[in-house]
Amino acid sequence: MTGRPGGTPARAPGTASPRAIGVLALQGDFEAHARALAAVGVPAVEVRTAGQLLSAAGLVLPGGESTTLWKLMEGTGIAEAIAEVVRRGDPVLATCAGAILLSRRILNPERPGLGLLDVTAVRNAYGRQLDSTVVRLTDLDRTALGSDPLEAVFIRAPRLEAPGPGVEVLARRDGDPVLVRQGNVLAATFHPELGEDSRVTRLFVAAGRR
Ligand code: GLN
Repeated sequence: MTGRPGGTPARAPGTASPRAIGVLALQGDFEAHARALAAVGVPAVEVRTAGQLLSAAGLVLPGGESTTLWKLMEGTGIAEAIAEVVRRGDPVLATCAGAILLSRRILNPERPGLGLLDVTAVRNAYGRQLDSTVVRLTDLDRTALGSDPLEAVFIRAPRLEAPGPGVEVLARRDGDPVLVRQGNVLAATFHPELGEDSRVTRLFVAAGRR
């Protein structure tokens, strides 16, 4: 750019475009998230290292298998980078296994989470006989989501329990929180990236524009 001291810094090949949302692409359904973001006109970039994650404009932690994710993250600095993204206020969307990672406490089996979302996550809490189920959610926060029922895909979902005072519950299934927000972190136990309804993806994207 002319007249700017030092000019525009060159971007190293392979790094995130400054406006793209990073989708953690270690494992799980990260491609579906990238498509869901593209569908609402937001560029996404797959991130696999702490550095890539920190250079994105926001972060999606997709569903998958949280025990595998912990193993893949070990010694990479990714956990610390996620904490930094949350701390600096960038929008974060965590779904299913992603929400488990962020939790304060995890059960089944018990272990600490990253402590970035003040909830207890009980893994695989809805039984194994039905691995995947679509639920029409009607208990919704109308300001955030409007009043139309939200079709939610649950895949071996965790149950969120004991939300702390800083946690807003935006949707419930049979009384259980299934979509929660704590500051810049939005977490769903279902998969908003699957299916037609883009309300949760748009809520996440809008948080980045505030
Ligand atoms: N059951 C998985 C876990 O405990 C989460 C499932 C999902 O992300 N769809 O990590």
